[in-house]
Amino acid sequence: MRDDKLANDCFALPPGVDWTPVDTALEALRAALKPVVKTERMTVADALGRCLATDVPAARANPPAPNSAIDGYGFAYASVAETLPLVDGRAAAGGAFEGTVPTGHAIRILTGAVLPEGVDTVVMQEECEVSAGVVRFLAKVKPGQNTREAGEDVKQGATALTAGHVLRAQDIALLTALGVPEVDVFNRLRVGVLSTGDELVAPAAEVSSDRTFDANRPMLLALASRWGCAAVDLGHVGDDRDALRACLNEARDICDVVLTSGGASGGDEDHVSALLSGEGVLTHWRIAIKPGRPLALAMWDGMPVFGLPGNPVAAFVCALIFARPSLSLMAGGAWLQPQGFALPAAFEKSKKRGRREFLRARLTPQGQVEVFASEGSGRISGLSWADGLVELEDGARDVKRGDLVRYIPFGSFSM
Ligand code: AMP
Ligand code: MG
Repeated sequence: MRDDKLANDCFALPPGVDWTPVDTALEALRAALKPVVKTERMTVADALGRCLATDVPAARANPPAPNSAIDGYGFAYASVAETLPLVDGRAAAGGAFEGTVPTGHAIRILTGAVLPEGVDTVVMQEECEVSAGVVRFLAKVKPGQNTREAGEDVKQGATALTAGHVLRAQDIALLTALGVPEVDVFNRLRVGVLSTGDELVAPAAEVSSDRTFDANRPMLLALASRWGCAAVDLGHVGDDRDALRACLNEARDICDVVLTSGGASGGDEDHVSALLSGEGVLTHWRIAIKPGRPLALAMWDGMPVFGLPGNPVAAFVCALIFARPSLSLMAGGAWLQPQGFALPAAFEKSKKRGRREFLRARLTPQGQVEVFASEGSGRISGLSWADGLVELEDGARDVKRGDLVRYIPFGSFSM
Protein backbone atom coordinates (compact mmCIF):
# COMPACT_ATOMS: atom_id res chain seq x y z
CA MET A 1 0.00 0.00 0.00
CA ARG A 2 1.17 3.48 -0.81
CA ASP A 3 2.38 5.56 2.10
CA ASP A 4 0.26 8.66 1.66
CA LYS A 5 1.67 10.61 4.59
CA LEU A 6 3.83 13.64 3.95
CA ALA A 7 7.03 13.88 5.98
CA ASN A 8 7.07 16.47 8.75
CA ASP A 9 10.07 18.22 7.27
CA CYS A 10 8.79 18.15 3.71
CA PHE A 11 8.68 21.94 3.45
CA ALA A 12 12.27 22.48 4.58
CA LEU A 13 14.18 24.81 2.29
CA PRO A 14 17.92 24.53 1.63
CA PRO A 15 19.84 26.53 4.28
CA GLY A 16 21.15 29.93 3.32
CA VAL A 17 18.30 30.70 0.98
CA ASP A 18 17.14 34.26 1.54
CA TRP A 19 14.62 35.53 -1.00
CA THR A 20 13.61 32.36 -2.75
CA PRO A 21 13.00 32.72 -6.49
CA VAL A 22 9.51 31.63 -7.59
CA ASP A 23 10.88 28.76 -9.69
CA THR A 24 12.95 27.43 -6.79
CA ALA A 25 9.91 27.56 -4.52
CA LEU A 26 7.80 25.74 -7.11
CA GLU A 27 10.47 23.05 -7.56
CA ALA A 28 10.71 22.59 -3.79
CA LEU A 29 6.92 22.20 -3.50
CA ARG A 30 6.88 19.78 -6.37
CA ALA A 31 9.57 17.67 -4.75
CA ALA A 32 7.94 17.80 -1.30
CA LEU A 33 4.38 16.86 -2.22
CA LYS A 34 2.68 13.67 -3.34
CA PRO A 35 -0.84 12.27 -3.53
CA VAL A 36 -2.50 12.07 -0.11
CA VAL A 37 -5.94 10.80 -1.15
CA LYS A 38 -7.38 7.32 -1.43
CA THR A 39 -9.19 5.95 -4.47
CA GLU A 40 -12.72 4.82 -5.28
CA ARG A 41 -14.43 3.19 -8.24
CA MET A 42 -17.26 4.97 -10.04
CA THR A 43 -19.15 4.98 -13.30
CA VAL A 44 -17.56 6.95 -16.11
CA ALA A 45 -20.70 9.08 -16.37
CA ASP A 46 -20.29 10.19 -12.74
CA ALA A 47 -16.57 10.84 -12.96
CA LEU A 48 -16.55 14.28 -14.60
CA GLY A 49 -13.75 16.35 -13.06
CA ARG A 50 -12.27 13.39 -11.20
CA CYS A 51 -8.61 12.38 -11.43
CA LEU A 52 -7.83 8.90 -12.76
CA ALA A 53 -5.98 6.70 -10.28
CA THR A 54 -4.83 4.18 -12.89
CA ASP A 55 -4.16 4.03 -16.61
CA VAL A 56 -7.32 3.02 -18.47
CA PRO A 57 -7.03 0.47 -21.33
CA ALA A 58 -9.59 0.28 -24.13
CA ALA A 59 -12.04 -2.58 -23.46
CA ARG A 60 -12.69 -2.72 -27.19
CA ALA A 61 -11.32 -1.10 -30.31
CA ASN A 62 -12.65 2.10 -31.86
CA PRO A 63 -14.13 1.51 -34.31
CA PRO A 64 -14.80 -2.09 -33.32
CA ALA A 65 -15.25 -3.19 -36.98
CA PRO A 66 -14.33 -1.74 -40.39
CA ASN A 67 -17.10 0.59 -41.56
CA SER A 68 -18.10 3.18 -44.10
CA ALA A 69 -17.24 6.84 -43.55
CA ILE A 70 -19.99 8.10 -45.89
CA ASP A 71 -23.25 7.32 -47.64
CA GLY A 72 -22.55 5.70 -51.03
CA TYR A 73 -21.84 2.40 -52.77
CA GLY A 74 -19.35 -0.25 -51.67
CA PHE A 75 -17.55 -3.07 -53.48
CA ALA A 76 -14.18 -4.86 -53.67
CA TYR A 77 -11.60 -2.57 -55.26
CA ALA A 78 -10.01 -5.50 -57.11
CA SER A 79 -13.18 -5.88 -59.19
CA VAL A 80 -13.93 -2.19 -59.86
CA ALA A 81 -15.22 -1.25 -63.32
CA GLU A 82 -16.94 1.83 -64.78
CA THR A 83 -20.30 0.31 -63.77
CA LEU A 84 -21.21 -2.42 -61.30
CA PRO A 85 -24.53 -4.21 -60.78
CA LEU A 86 -26.10 -3.65 -57.35
CA VAL A 87 -27.00 -6.50 -55.03
CA ASP A 88 -30.39 -6.44 -53.31
CA GLY A 89 -30.43 -5.03 -49.81
CA ARG A 90 -28.23 -2.46 -48.14
CA ALA A 91 -25.80 -2.02 -45.28
CA ALA A 92 -26.70 0.59 -42.64
CA ALA A 93 -25.32 1.63 -39.23
CA GLY A 94 -26.75 -0.86 -36.75
CA GLY A 95 -28.20 -2.88 -39.63
CA ALA A 96 -25.39 -4.94 -41.07
CA PHE A 97 -25.74 -6.71 -44.41
CA GLU A 98 -25.47 -10.36 -43.50
CA GLY A 99 -24.44 -11.86 -46.82
CA THR A 100 -21.35 -11.55 -48.99
CA VAL A 101 -21.18 -9.03 -51.83
CA PRO A 102 -20.02 -11.10 -54.81
CA THR A 103 -17.02 -10.06 -56.86
CA GLY A 104 -18.01 -7.58 -59.56
CA HIS A 105 -21.00 -6.29 -57.57
CA ALA A 106 -21.68 -3.22 -55.42
CA ILE A 107 -24.01 -2.55 -52.50
CA ARG A 108 -25.81 0.51 -51.18
CA ILE A 109 -24.05 1.42 -47.93
CA LEU A 110 -24.67 4.16 -45.35
CA THR A 111 -22.36 6.02 -42.96
CA GLY A 112 -21.23 3.90 -40.03
CA ALA A 113 -22.37 0.61 -41.57
CA VAL A 114 -20.02 -2.32 -41.00
CA LEU A 115 -18.38 -3.19 -44.33
CA PRO A 116 -20.02 -6.42 -45.58
CA GLU A 117 -17.87 -9.36 -46.63
CA GLY A 118 -16.55 -8.54 -50.11
CA VAL A 119 -16.44 -4.74 -49.62
CA ASP A 120 -13.25 -2.75 -49.03
CA THR A 121 -13.94 0.49 -50.92
CA VAL A 122 -16.81 2.99 -50.91
CA VAL A 123 -17.66 5.73 -53.43
CA MET A 124 -19.71 8.64 -52.12
CA GLN A 125 -23.21 8.90 -53.53
CA GLU A 126 -22.52 12.33 -55.02
CA GLU A 127 -19.97 10.66 -57.33
CA CYS A 128 -22.38 7.94 -58.50
CA GLU A 129 -25.25 7.61 -60.92
CA VAL A 130 -27.71 4.80 -60.27
CA SER A 131 -30.23 3.47 -62.74
CA ALA A 132 -31.87 0.10 -63.37
CA GLY A 133 -29.92 -1.66 -60.63
CA VAL A 134 -26.53 -0.53 -61.88
CA VAL A 135 -24.18 2.03 -60.30
CA ARG A 136 -21.90 4.14 -62.51
CA PHE A 137 -18.84 5.85 -60.97
CA LEU A 138 -18.23 9.42 -62.13
CA ALA A 139 -14.78 9.91 -60.59
CA LYS A 140 -11.56 7.96 -60.23
CA VAL A 141 -11.69 5.35 -57.46
CA LYS A 142 -8.86 4.72 -54.98
CA PRO A 143 -8.44 1.44 -53.11
CA GLY A 144 -9.96 1.50 -49.65
CA GLN A 145 -11.36 5.01 -49.97
CA ASN A 146 -14.02 6.26 -47.57
CA THR A 147 -13.63 3.34 -45.20
CA ARG A 148 -12.45 3.19 -41.61
CA GLU A 149 -10.29 0.32 -40.39
CA ALA A 150 -11.14 -1.53 -37.20
CA GLY A 151 -9.10 0.01 -34.37
CA GLU A 152 -7.75 2.83 -36.52
CA ASP A 153 -8.56 5.28 -33.72
CA VAL A 154 -7.75 3.15 -30.66
CA LYS A 155 -6.75 -0.53 -30.59
CA GLN A 156 -8.29 -2.87 -28.04
CA GLY A 157 -6.10 -2.96 -24.93
CA ALA A 158 -4.26 0.25 -25.82
CA THR A 159 -3.94 2.84 -23.05
CA ALA A 160 -6.74 5.33 -23.65
CA LEU A 161 -6.02 7.69 -20.75
CA THR A 162 -3.26 7.72 -18.17
CA ALA A 163 -3.31 7.95 -14.38
CA GLY A 164 -3.47 11.54 -13.17
CA HIS A 165 -5.66 12.71 -16.03
CA VAL A 166 -8.68 14.75 -14.96
CA LEU A 167 -11.79 13.64 -16.84
CA ARG A 168 -13.47 16.17 -19.12
CA ALA A 169 -16.64 15.78 -21.20
CA GLN A 170 -14.70 14.52 -24.21
CA ASP A 171 -12.87 11.93 -22.08
CA ILE A 172 -16.21 10.57 -20.92
CA ALA A 173 -17.14 10.20 -24.60
CA LEU A 174 -13.86 8.41 -25.34
CA LEU A 175 -14.12 5.92 -22.49
CA THR A 176 -17.75 5.23 -23.29
CA ALA A 177 -16.90 4.62 -26.96
CA LEU A 178 -14.18 2.22 -25.83
CA GLY A 179 -16.57 0.16 -23.74
CA VAL A 180 -15.21 1.27 -20.35
CA PRO A 181 -18.11 1.52 -17.87
CA GLU A 182 -16.20 2.30 -14.63
CA VAL A 183 -12.94 3.89 -13.59
CA ASP A 184 -10.78 4.09 -10.47
CA VAL A 185 -10.46 7.73 -9.44
CA PHE A 186 -8.91 9.57 -6.54
CA ASN A 187 -11.19 10.88 -3.85
CA ARG A 188 -11.58 14.62 -4.01
CA LEU A 189 -8.89 16.39 -2.01
CA ARG A 190 -10.52 17.96 1.05
CA VAL A 191 -9.26 21.53 1.22
CA GLY A 192 -10.04 23.45 4.39
CA VAL A 193 -10.14 27.25 4.17
CA LEU A 194 -9.61 29.36 7.26
CA SER A 195 -9.39 33.14 7.70
CA THR A 196 -7.56 34.74 10.60
CA GLY A 197 -7.52 38.24 12.01
CA ASP A 198 -9.37 40.22 14.71
CA GLU A 199 -10.43 42.82 12.14
CA LEU A 200 -12.41 40.36 10.02
CA VAL A 201 -16.19 40.09 10.11
CA ALA A 202 -18.82 38.39 8.01
CA PRO A 203 -20.49 40.72 5.50
CA ALA A 204 -23.29 42.68 7.20
CA ALA A 205 -24.95 46.03 6.76
CA GLU A 206 -24.04 47.69 10.07
CA VAL A 207 -20.33 47.30 10.63
CA SER A 208 -17.88 49.87 11.88
CA SER A 209 -15.39 51.07 9.33
CA ASP A 210 -12.39 49.64 11.16
CA ARG A 211 -13.66 46.16 10.34
CA THR A 212 -12.80 44.25 7.18
CA PHE A 213 -15.18 41.89 5.45
CA ASP A 214 -13.68 38.44 5.15
CA ALA A 215 -13.24 38.35 1.38
CA ASN A 216 -10.52 35.69 1.19
CA ARG A 217 -12.52 32.80 2.57
CA PRO A 218 -15.27 32.74 -0.06
CA MET A 219 -12.62 33.41 -2.73
CA LEU A 220 -10.39 30.51 -1.65
CA LEU A 221 -13.38 28.19 -1.19
CA ALA A 222 -14.48 29.06 -4.73
CA LEU A 223 -10.99 28.42 -6.11
CA ALA A 224 -10.73 25.07 -4.35
CA SER A 225 -14.12 23.98 -5.74
CA ARG A 226 -13.17 25.19 -9.18
CA TRP A 227 -10.03 23.08 -9.00
CA GLY A 228 -12.05 19.93 -8.36
CA CYS A 229 -11.42 19.77 -4.61
CA ALA A 230 -13.97 19.32 -1.84
CA ALA A 231 -13.85 22.76 -0.22
CA VAL A 232 -14.35 22.74 3.54
CA ASP A 233 -15.30 26.03 5.20
CA LEU A 234 -13.36 26.23 8.47
CA GLY A 235 -14.72 29.67 9.25
CA HIS A 236 -12.83 32.56 10.80
CA VAL A 237 -10.81 32.80 13.98
CA GLY A 238 -9.50 35.99 15.56
CA ASP A 239 -5.89 36.56 16.47
CA ASP A 240 -6.14 34.06 19.27
CA ARG A 241 -3.77 31.16 19.55
CA ASP A 242 -6.08 28.82 21.45
CA ALA A 243 -8.93 29.28 18.99
CA LEU A 244 -6.56 28.72 16.10
CA ARG A 245 -5.15 25.56 17.68
CA ALA A 246 -8.65 24.19 18.25
CA CYS A 247 -9.61 24.95 14.69
CA LEU A 248 -6.54 23.24 13.22
CA ASN A 249 -7.09 20.19 15.43
CA GLU A 250 -10.63 19.93 14.20
CA ALA A 251 -9.50 20.41 10.60
CA ARG A 252 -7.10 17.52 11.02
CA ASP A 253 -10.02 15.08 10.97
CA ILE A 254 -11.99 16.53 8.08
CA CYS A 255 -9.37 17.98 5.70
CA ASP A 256 -6.37 16.74 3.76
CA VAL A 257 -4.82 20.20 3.57
CA VAL A 258 -5.64 23.66 4.91
CA LEU A 259 -5.30 27.06 3.30
CA THR A 260 -5.17 29.92 5.78
CA SER A 261 -4.96 33.58 4.94
CA GLY A 262 -3.62 36.39 7.08
CA GLY A 263 -1.29 36.34 10.04
CA ALA A 264 1.48 34.55 8.22
CA SER A 265 4.19 37.16 8.08
CA GLY A 266 5.89 36.79 11.42
CA GLY A 267 4.85 40.17 12.91
CA ASP A 268 3.45 40.80 16.43
CA GLU A 269 -0.09 39.82 15.50
CA ASP A 270 0.91 36.96 13.24
CA HIS A 271 -0.57 34.17 15.30
CA VAL A 272 -0.69 31.65 12.48
CA SER A 273 3.08 31.82 12.15
CA ALA A 274 3.60 31.78 15.88
CA LEU A 275 1.39 28.76 16.51
CA LEU A 276 2.65 26.76 13.56
CA SER A 277 6.28 27.34 14.44
CA GLY A 278 5.71 26.73 18.15
CA GLU A 279 3.58 23.61 17.94
CA GLY A 280 3.82 22.40 14.34
CA VAL A 281 6.67 22.41 11.86
CA LEU A 282 6.86 25.69 9.99
CA THR A 283 9.03 27.02 7.24
CA HIS A 284 8.67 30.62 6.22
CA TRP A 285 9.25 30.93 2.56
CA ARG A 286 10.33 34.44 1.70
CA ILE A 287 9.49 34.26 -1.96
CA ALA A 288 10.68 36.90 -4.38
CA ILE A 289 7.24 37.65 -5.80
CA LYS A 290 4.94 40.64 -6.13
CA PRO A 291 2.19 40.65 -5.05
CA GLY A 292 2.82 38.33 -2.13
CA ARG A 293 4.59 38.33 1.16
CA PRO A 294 6.12 35.30 2.80
CA LEU A 295 4.25 32.07 2.44
CA ALA A 296 4.06 30.01 5.61
CA LEU A 297 4.27 26.32 4.80
CA ALA A 298 3.71 24.04 7.72
CA MET A 299 2.80 20.57 8.89
CA TRP A 300 0.19 20.35 11.64
CA ASP A 301 0.12 16.83 13.03
CA GLY A 302 0.74 15.38 9.56
CA MET A 303 -1.57 17.81 7.73
CA PRO A 304 -0.02 20.36 5.37
CA VAL A 305 -0.98 24.00 5.94
CA PHE A 306 -0.46 26.72 3.36
CA GLY A 307 -0.37 30.11 5.06
CA LEU A 308 -1.27 32.57 2.33
CA PRO A 309 -0.90 36.34 2.64
CA GLY A 310 -3.87 38.23 4.14
CA ASN A 311 -4.09 40.77 1.42
CA PRO A 312 -6.74 39.47 -1.00
CA VAL A 313 -4.79 40.30 -4.16
CA ALA A 314 -1.68 38.58 -2.82
CA ALA A 315 -3.72 35.67 -1.48
CA PHE A 316 -5.30 35.26 -4.91
CA VAL A 317 -2.03 35.35 -6.85
CA CYS A 318 -0.24 33.05 -4.40
CA ALA A 319 -3.15 30.61 -4.54
CA LEU A 320 -2.94 30.51 -8.33
CA ILE A 321 0.84 30.24 -8.52
CA PHE A 322 1.66 28.02 -5.51
CA ALA A 323 -1.48 26.38 -4.17
CA ARG A 324 -2.99 25.25 -7.47
CA PRO A 325 -0.16 22.94 -8.64
CA SER A 326 0.35 21.75 -5.06
CA LEU A 327 -3.29 20.82 -4.59
CA SER A 328 -3.33 19.08 -7.96
CA LEU A 329 -0.33 16.94 -7.00
CA MET A 330 -1.81 16.08 -3.60
CA ALA A 331 -5.08 15.15 -5.34
CA GLY A 332 -3.25 12.59 -7.49
CA GLY A 333 -2.97 14.79 -10.57
CA ALA A 334 -0.14 16.37 -12.48
CA TRP A 335 2.03 19.25 -11.34
CA LEU A 336 0.27 22.01 -13.27
CA GLN A 337 2.09 24.68 -15.21
CA PRO A 338 -0.17 27.42 -16.57
CA GLN A 339 -0.09 27.98 -20.30
CA GLY A 340 1.01 31.53 -21.19
CA PHE A 341 1.17 33.42 -24.47
CA ALA A 342 3.65 36.00 -25.76
CA LEU A 343 1.60 39.03 -26.74
CA PRO A 344 2.38 42.69 -27.43
CA ALA A 345 2.11 45.02 -24.46
CA ALA A 346 -0.30 47.95 -24.52
CA PHE A 347 1.57 49.43 -21.53
CA GLU A 348 4.98 50.57 -20.40
CA LYS A 349 6.74 49.53 -17.25
CA SER A 350 10.20 49.27 -15.89
CA LYS A 351 11.00 46.86 -13.10
CA LYS A 352 14.14 46.15 -11.14
CA ARG A 353 15.74 42.74 -10.99
CA GLY A 354 15.25 40.39 -8.08
CA ARG A 355 11.61 39.35 -8.04
CA ARG A 356 8.88 37.96 -10.23
CA GLU A 357 5.94 40.30 -10.80
CA PHE A 358 2.38 39.42 -11.69
CA LEU A 359 0.19 42.23 -13.06
CA ARG A 360 -3.57 42.12 -13.38
CA ALA A 361 -4.16 42.16 -17.11
CA ARG A 362 -6.57 41.62 -19.96
CA LEU A 363 -6.62 41.76 -23.75
CA THR A 364 -7.57 44.86 -25.71
CA PRO A 365 -9.88 44.44 -28.71
CA GLN A 366 -6.71 44.64 -30.85
CA GLY A 367 -5.19 41.62 -29.07
CA GLN A 368 -2.63 43.54 -27.01
CA VAL A 369 -2.25 43.17 -23.26
CA GLU A 370 -3.29 46.03 -21.01
CA VAL A 371 -2.69 46.12 -17.27
CA PHE A 372 -4.78 47.48 -14.42
CA ALA A 373 -4.14 51.15 -13.70
CA SER A 374 -2.99 50.55 -10.13
CA GLU A 375 -0.59 47.92 -8.88
CA GLY A 376 -1.77 48.57 -5.29
CA SER A 377 -2.30 45.21 -3.69
CA GLY A 378 -5.40 46.46 -1.87
CA ARG A 379 -7.21 47.02 -5.16
CA ILE A 380 -9.43 43.95 -5.23
CA SER A 381 -11.44 45.45 -8.08
CA GLY A 382 -8.45 44.89 -10.36
CA LEU A 383 -8.90 41.14 -10.01
CA SER A 384 -12.41 41.37 -11.41
CA TRP A 385 -11.34 43.86 -14.08
CA ALA A 386 -8.67 41.42 -15.25
CA ASP A 387 -9.00 38.30 -17.40
CA GLY A 388 -5.50 37.08 -16.64
CA LEU A 389 -2.04 37.96 -15.38
CA VAL A 390 1.09 39.30 -17.01
CA GLU A 391 4.16 37.52 -15.67
CA LEU A 392 7.34 39.56 -15.68
CA GLU A 393 10.51 37.55 -15.19
CA ASP A 394 12.83 37.80 -12.18
CA GLY A 395 15.43 39.93 -13.97
CA ALA A 396 15.18 43.64 -14.74
CA ARG A 397 12.74 44.52 -17.48
CA ASP A 398 11.93 47.66 -19.42
CA VAL A 399 8.66 47.01 -21.17
CA LYS A 400 7.86 49.34 -24.06
CA ARG A 401 4.57 49.40 -25.92
CA GLY A 402 4.51 46.59 -28.48
CA ASP A 403 7.13 44.48 -26.67
CA LEU A 404 6.10 40.87 -26.19
CA VAL A 405 5.10 39.99 -22.62
CA ARG A 406 3.90 36.71 -21.16
CA TYR A 407 0.12 36.78 -20.66
CA ILE A 408 -1.52 33.97 -18.72
CA PRO A 409 -5.32 33.98 -19.13
CA PHE A 410 -7.25 32.98 -16.02
CA GLY A 411 -8.49 30.03 -18.11
CA SER A 412 -4.94 28.67 -17.87
CA PHE A 413 -5.50 28.46 -14.10
CA SER A 414 -8.72 26.49 -14.72
CA MET A 415 -10.91 29.41 -13.74
P1 AMP B 1 -2.15 40.12 7.64
O1 AMP B 1 -1.39 39.20 6.73
O2 AMP B 1 -2.96 39.37 8.64
O3 AMP B 1 -1.28 41.15 8.25
O4 AMP B 1 -3.19 40.87 6.70
C1 AMP B 1 -2.77 41.74 5.66
C2 AMP B 1 -3.93 42.58 5.17
O5 AMP B 1 -4.91 41.72 4.59
C3 AMP B 1 -4.66 43.32 6.28
O6 AMP B 1 -5.07 44.56 5.75
C4 AMP B 1 -5.85 42.44 6.57
O7 AMP B 1 -6.93 43.15 7.10
C5 AMP B 1 -6.17 41.91 5.20
N1 AMP B 1 -6.86 40.64 5.30
C6 AMP B 1 -6.45 39.57 5.99
N2 AMP B 1 -7.31 38.56 5.86
C7 AMP B 1 -8.30 39.00 5.06
C8 AMP B 1 -9.50 38.42 4.57
N3 AMP B 1 -9.84 37.17 4.90
N4 AMP B 1 -10.30 39.17 3.77
C9 AMP B 1 -9.96 40.45 3.47
N5 AMP B 1 -8.85 41.03 3.88
C10 AMP B 1 -8.02 40.34 4.69
MG1 MG C 1 -3.90 39.62 10.45
